Amino acid sequence: LEKKHVSVRQLLENAIAVMHHRIINNNLTVSVRLSRQIDMIQIDPQRMEQVILNLLFNAIEAQPGSGKIFLSSRRLKQKNRSMLEIVLGDNGPGIPKEILPHIFDPMFTQKSKGTGIGLNNVKRIVEAHGGEVKIKTRQPMGTNFLIRLPLE
Ligand code: ADP
Ligand code: MG
Repeated sequence: LEKKHVSVRQLLENAIAVMHHRIINNNLTVSVRLSRQIDMIQIDPQRMEQVILNLLFNAIEAQPGSGKIFLSSRRLKQKNRSMLEIVLGDNGPGIPKEILPHIFDPMFTQKSKGTGIGLNNVKRIVEAHGGEVKIKTRQPMGTNFLIRLPLE
């Protein structure tokens, strides 16, 4: 990893800019609510942008034609460690319980032209940073991906 001091806002805005056309073409609205306390973080910016892009791409593919994407950040304490949590949510159909244990497996895909490498990369990169990825089902529908990264 090539870690640098990076602004979380900058990281997320860059990734949204890369996906701009796909977002517009699919009539998606993106809302961003970032922590006011914490913005700078030590991460590998290229790898972490890949993480956000993979999650954004899945969120777009989950709701073709219209939908919503939510991005937020907050600070949290976990086992006395200070963490930054980035949440990326969508209003898509959600992930069925029975496939949840498999979605991080390499080559696991439910798409006709999928590769199944996106989420495997997400998990590998986040864990290489000492962090973790969690999934929560959104009510009434959709998925939240939670990325938790340690703050030194
Ligand atoms: P791919 O996108 O090539 O299928 P991924 O590793 O990115 O591979 O995702 C694996 C699978 O997890 C997808 O095929 C899909 O079934 C499920 N998945 C991932 N993200 C979402 C999401 N936001 N909403 C619904 N299902 C999802
Ligand atoms: Mg994908």
